Amino acid sequence: MDEKLIISISGVRGIVGANLTPSIAAEYGCAFGTFLKERFFGSRATGHGSRLLVCIGRDSRTSGQMLKSAVAAGLCALGIDVIDLGLVTTAGVAVMVGELGCSGGIVITASHNPIQYNGIKLLLGNGIAPPLDQAEQIKQYFFDKRFAFVDSPNCGKVTSNELTDANHINRVLSIVDKEAISAKKFKVALDSVNGAGGRVTKKLLAELGCEVSAINDEPTGLFAHAPEPTRENVKELGEVVKVNRADIGFAQDPDADRLAIVDEAGAYIGEEYTLALAAKYIFSKRTGKAATNLSTSRMLDDIAAKAGGQVIRTAVGEANVANAMLEHDCIIAGEGNGGVIDLRVSPVRDSLVGIALVLQLMAETGKTISQLVSEIGKYYMRKDKFAVEPGQAKQILELAKKTFTGAKLNTTDGCRFDFDDGWLHIRPSNTEPVVRVIAEATSKEAVQKYIDAILKMIH
Ligand code: MG
Repeated sequence: MDEKLIISISGVRGIVGANLTPSIAAEYGCAFGTFLKERFFGSRATGHGSRLLVCIGRDSRTSGQMLKSAVAAGLCALGIDVIDLGLVTTAGVAVMVGELGCSGGIVITASHNPIQYNGIKLLLGNGIAPPLDQAEQIKQYFFDKRFAFVDSPNCGKVTSNELTDANHINRVLSIVDKEAISAKKFKVALDSVNGAGGRVTKKLLAELGCEVSAINDEPTGLFAHAPEPTRENVKELGEVVKVNRADIGFAQDPDADRLAIVDEAGAYIGEEYTLALAAKYIFSKRTGKAATNLSTSRMLDDIAAKAGGQVIRTAVGEANVANAMLEHDCIIAGEGNGGVIDLRVSPVRDSLVGIALVLQLMAETGKTISQLVSEIGKYYMRKDKFAVEPGQAKQILELAKKTFTGAKLNTTDGCRFDFDDGWLHIRPSNTEPVVRVIAEATSKEAVQKYIDAILKMIH
């Protein structure tokens, strides 16, 4: 496999044994550590003075141990002390960065990517991925091999901490009414795809008095199906719901930041509904702002508007959403891919937060999950990716601006046009010659109309 190692804003991702090797991992750890040292001790930091602390967690992939050890070695070589959190979720690491007062956190995960991949995801001391300019700086240090090594007596030490799950669960329980949910004795089906979510999620559901039918809950890293929690990949969960007459089914990705839901009839309801349902509960209690990216469903705007609230739209990328959430003091945030963020737990997408909020909504309303979904209303969405010639993406954006003159335009990330019956988001890719087109509307015909208009511009 000769795919390129991807170094982006959210860290490194590659194929283990091909381009993601222990030496790459150690040097990436050195680059991040050097960046942190300069941030805290100034640009000529050599590693003396007070020590920095970084915590590391990993998802269940077999290669996780190897990469974690390599990254930890890189950090220790700079005089940074490392706290090994073991096998935990991405949100769990964000929780512990705050809990332990770390200057940064690292998650060894390739999220929903297939098993041959792994990755190194970086978090700053606020639990959020570095912003673009800082991510670029870390990348440059990696390529320049600019590492602030220390001598032998000053090397960092590795200690372990096994309190992530307990801290994480406590924080999630603090945002819901545990007694109210427990009183309902919900039957819940769970598919953790043999990732990091199984153990902690089963403990959370036990605390919430649920009777759980779990599949793929052992964190073996040998994914029982393609790990992205899409309709095609979580069919077995629908069967488990039906056989066990469960009230709801939850599917996670390997690092448990994304959540998809199956209703009481075993039907997949679509990842866009995860954030909408969580927001429906939050906005039923108070009003305020929500944050999400430009490619996420309008359902969130409808829910916020009903409560007198407002939605902040950001460029695509979890860190953009999380930073907007902090900046605007949002009461809920997330992404249409099943990522829900509640700052009271952490600034990271968290399936445990989504699960708790949705169960709370069911408990308080006494409604089934399919009833709650039908109350939100239905939109049709299509996500497409079209190949374009170099330079053509820019032309398409200009043409679209001239075509959709009646629409409300947002140019934060490509162009998003809002119409009365729907919206269209056109995003040129930074890494490949394609444009991504996302359209959502109240009818399938309207979606097709917007997609056709773009196709006409491309050809
Ligand atoms: Mg993920």
